[in-house]
Amino acid sequence: MKNNSNLIKDLNGLLSAARTSYQAMKTDRLSKFLGKINSISDYQKIPPTTKEDFYDFNLSKKFSYVKRSRLDENGKEPILPLTEDDYWRYVESEVGRFKAMGVKKTDRISVVNFTINETIPIVNSLMKLGATYIVTEGDVNLICDDLIKKEVNVIFTYHRMLEKIIEHLESRSLKLALRLVIVTAEPIDDKNLLKKRVKKVLGADLIDTIGTREIGGYAYECPEKNCYHFLDSLYVETVDPETKAVTSKAGELLITPLWRKDLPLIRFATRDLVKLEQKTCSCKVKNNLVFKKVLGRINENVKIGYSMVDLREVYFETKKLINYQYPVIDNLFLRIAPSLNFSLLLSNEKETDILIIFVERSKFNRYLRRKRIITESLSAKFNIGVEIVLLSSNDFSKLSNNKYLDIRYIKKNRIPKYLLKILNQQSMSFDL
Ligand SMILES: [Zn+2]
Repeated sequence: MKNNSNLIKDLNGLLSAARTSYQAMKTDRLSKFLGKINSISDYQKIPPTTKEDFYDFNLSKKFSYVKRSRLDENGKEPILPLTEDDYWRYVESEVGRFKAMGVKKTDRISVVNFTINETIPIVNSLMKLGATYIVTEGDVNLICDDLIKKEVNVIFTYHRMLEKIIEHLESRSLKLALRLVIVTAEPIDDKNLLKKRVKKVLGADLIDTIGTREIGGYAYECPEKNCYHFLDSLYVETVDPETKAVTSKAGELLITPLWRKDLPLIRFATRDLVKLEQKTCSCKVKNNLVFKKVLGRINENVKIGYSMVDLREVYFETKKLINYQYPVIDNLFLRIAPSLNFSLLLSNEKETDILIIFVERSKFNRYLRRKRIITESLSAKFNIGVEIVLLSSNDFSKLSNNKYLDIRYIKKNRIPKYLLKILNQQSMSFDL
């Protein structure tokens, strides 16, 4: 972390840039802090910027921005506000991430199976770093062929793709020249187990990294101790999720990316819950703050169709409706009321968002007459489209670990196979 006076100067600079770059900020809550940040505690009085705030900002015309590839649920072209200069500073920040993880000029690195808009800044970073970027394309078969032939020694991918690569190589007893695997974007249930498999099958070390679309990578796993380090291009804090006051307990992670100088993000609320600690490893990173893992998400607010809903709330409401029992019967005959499991899926049918409730056919039979009540109640309460889909016990068991899945924004090849099969059986039309 930079020394305090430099940091405070930087933060003041970001505030004044925010004021000129976002129309809304000329009059809003931020302007009263302008030029008045003399200490870190002054800065910590500024209200956090939520994701919704950020995308709602009205940009001044002189700024360019990067469009996201997919239309949003309202048919609008969503944008990721980013100027060209900020883009290159973002790339520089990513260079810092790769360097910190030990990627070298001599490495031959492949970015496996990300979308093109995710791949471009990463490839730019690797070029800046001086490493060799190897293109791999196609299915897992072709990708593994390329990885072997082109002697790739570092791959950057996501957890599910990594599993496919491991499976593919393991079943064919193939070997790679890998030394390092970097993963991002997806939670890993048992990281130690995965590390062991990566070591055994791929002969490589595994490093996990965490990021968001708005600020790119923000943390990477320490190779030495069980913790994550922050990139030096960021200012980080944690706040109480309710009061928004800075806390030393587990709290919501706020990040101010210092590289966003044209379209700043002031105290961006990541919604990730972490407990900040002091580092105890020998890594030579400037920032001494680390965290063991992301403990959870602050809320699960998502936009479904035109409505913003809290997925947990939808989940509990569904649970209540599905497991509704007549109180008298409950008490007299069903001392242990059978609890019916279900899984929620957010999908997109004919360009309209829909919430699908998967239930087990054999167990739902006795509730069939409630089907309409359940869908209509949920639909009315949350103003969303709802459908109940009955599954065989076998199919349902494959979903059992998922309370809710959202496949609206992911590529078809990233949807788990079992789920695609289930959806195809239902002969639903999915616009993926
Ligand atoms: Zn470390």
